Amino acid sequence: MNQAAEQRILVIEDEPGIVDFLQRGLQTAGFAVEAVGDGIEGERLALADRFDAIVLDLMLPGRGGLEILAAVRRARPSVPVIVLSALGELDDRVTGLDAGAVDYLIKPFSLTELVARVRAQLRAAEQTAPSTLTAGDIEVHLITRRTTRGGTTVPLSNTEFELLAYLMRHRGQAVSRLQILAAVWGYDHDPATNIVDVYVGYLRRKLRTPGNPAPIHTVRSVGYRLDAAG
Ligand code: CA
Repeated sequence: MNQAAEQRILVIEDEPGIVDFLQRGLQTAGFAVEAVGDGIEGERLALADRFDAIVLDLMLPGRGGLEILAAVRRARPSVPVIVLSALGELDDRVTGLDAGAVDYLIKPFSLTELVARVRAQLRAAEQTAPSTLTAGDIEVHLITRRTTRGGTTVPLSNTEFELLAYLMRHRGQAVSRLQILAAVWGYDHDPATNIVDVYVGYLRRKLRTPGNPAPIHTVRSVGYRLDAAG
């Protein structure tokens, strides 16, 4: 049986002391943490599909926390965001946003308080997120990490599973190789790599059944699209 994957937290904060405090505290609490101090890079990472929650400072170089928050709410509305703010920075623009997925902590805060908030937000997000993704006769069970086609289990490696789950979440949409690369492999990968094409090839072979090719289509000069109807 697969263990539930480690939950990944993105920390967007530019004060090294706070970053260090957050990183050590969240790691001790069992989370995988990635930290970034720049607003532009922070937004890029926040929109990648690989974080379960985001801890976001408001005052950042490059791009402000409010802009990042708005972009995340548009593109990835189910991802919980915990906003860190100095007293007085928090204004109606933040507090007026959909409160369900946005939480606030006023600096200074204790680590216990932060970890409790992160856990509470992750629990709330899990309850609203679907545990199964479906496209035609393909089903991906996110909790057991089991994939079936027409009811038959398709054994996938971890990377193949993450790739399929990403395509299923965006079913019916063309997604670029770069988007896929960022979401499944992370940005530290060389964008010139053909790893996405290689893994799409693996997935197609594993998902096809006689007379029934995998519904993953190549979209010319863009990337790939998984058909919703299968
Ligand atoms: Ca700051």
